[in-house]
Amino acid sequence: MLPSEHYVGGEFVRGDAAPVVVRSPSTDEVLAEIPGAGVALAERAAAANGVAARAMRALPVLRRVELVRRLAAAVRAEQVPLARLLTLESGKPIAESRTEVEYSASFFDNAAAAAEMAAGELPAARLADRRVLVLREPIGATVAITPWNFPLAMIARKLAPALAAGCSQLVKPAEDTPLTALAFARLFAKTAVECAAPPAAFGVVVGDPISIARAFIEEPSTRKLTFTGSTEVGRLLATQCAPRLLRTALELGGNAPFLVFADADLDRAADQAMLSKFRFMGQTCISANRFLLEESIADEFLSRLEARMRALVVGDPLSEATRVGPLINDAAIRKVELHVRDSVAKGARIRLGGARAEVAGLAPRFFMPTILTGCSPMMHCACEETFGPIVASMTFRTESEAVMIANAVPHGLAAYVMTQDADRLLRVAEALDFGVVGANDGAPSTAEAPFGGRKDSGLGREGGMYGLDAYVDLKYVSMRVRGC
Ligand code: NAD
Repeated sequence: MLPSEHYVGGEFVRGDAAPVVVRSPSTDEVLAEIPGAGVALAERAAAANGVAARAMRALPVLRRVELVRRLAAAVRAEQVPLARLLTLESGKPIAESRTEVEYSASFFDNAAAAAEMAAGELPAARLADRRVLVLREPIGATVAITPWNFPLAMIARKLAPALAAGCSQLVKPAEDTPLTALAFARLFAKTAVECAAPPAAFGVVVGDPISIARAFIEEPSTRKLTFTGSTEVGRLLATQCAPRLLRTALELGGNAPFLVFADADLDRAADQAMLSKFRFMGQTCISANRFLLEESIADEFLSRLEARMRALVVGDPLSEATRVGPLINDAAIRKVELHVRDSVAKGARIRLGGARAEVAGLAPRFFMPTILTGCSPMMHCACEETFGPIVASMTFRTESEAVMIANAVPHGLAAYVMTQDADRLLRVAEALDFGVVGANDGAPSTAEAPFGGRKDSGLGREGGMYGLDAYVDLKYVSMRVRGC
């Protein structure tokens, strides 16, 4: 049976507000109607999260690490059912969903290792009789709001370091994809019991985002909000957190440039482009959005990319062969159509695709892998995330022109550079004003890296030691020592 209960204070509870209706993006079938969490339940969850933070703080590091390691194992053990649920609610091709489950487990592995290695400091003393002891303490109760495009991984990336650092975390997943989060809550509850960890250290409530976010932020014990989603909502939440001076971590939207220089290995570049552009049909924050191609190889690169794109199987995301499933909802496919229409109206040409793909018996939410040529920075496809399977390409003549176009957007999450010239690789990687650079690498996300953006793409980093630090408060104890 699909999960439909919220997980609050270590207990599964039914909601009391308007239902959240979860539909399959492929078939439009109603997968679940989850009675939503109203204001009272959200407030109760936030208060319980505060109480759980005290229990987590008291848990010795070894026990926290055990909890986090066991969560990695629990997630791996349930890879098949979790992946199926993830695909049902998000439309992510099943092979990718399995990869997401493994990716999620890797955040738990990594946070456990980071917590074991974490150490305070004793800076060199300036005075003979003074010692400054720098302590790392958990920041306390944290709340998280996550997007639909990685229903499990975005929770794991936040929760793993929170628990490892000794914090609690209460999550509100996206309304389009709450089922994986609720299924994970069952795994958490079982794992917490097995290792005698506080069962309320994690919680999930689903429902109206505005009232739930308000309850999370206004709860006096809440010490941090971590958000992954659009820049618009991130900005709004930052404003709501400001009066309380609440710590905020914001992982927001991107608009990734993908630079291909004439000296690149074009087959390798095309392979990396496929990884970046077609993971979840381009519905990821680090998906290549603007293809900047050196003029002399633009056509050759696109030929090689086109051959690969023609081989993509569009279809039922539950089928093993499928690489392109449905987009998440009607608004998403309308946005992709608008970007194609706008580009063509402003002078771009469609080299491949350009329209919805019909898949027999499934909802009209599939879009053909598409190549646009002759795009320019003023088109929608270049100034905002398209979040769809569109390769919007334009050409450049010089390295400095490429870097200038790449940086000339408000976002600064991920960028890619394809070249075999080692000097250029480093020069361009340094010049790109982005938090993540894929250098001949179309899939740079990995649990040990400090993932995060600049400018409108957000604040803070997640992953590895850097991710753990985001849940740590430093305290120093200044001691006077007699007899020195
Ligand atoms: P979204 O901002 O619409 O929603 C994200 C979350 O915020 C959801 O849980 C939603 O319910 C909630 N939300 C929406 N309005 C809210 C409000 N007024 N108050 C409080 N919460 C609210 O984004 P989305 O469409 O779900 O996700 C796609 C976006 O996320 C893209 O822009 C993508 O680039 C970004 N993203 C960023 C990263 C990253 O790590 N930087 C990762 C994945 C996705």
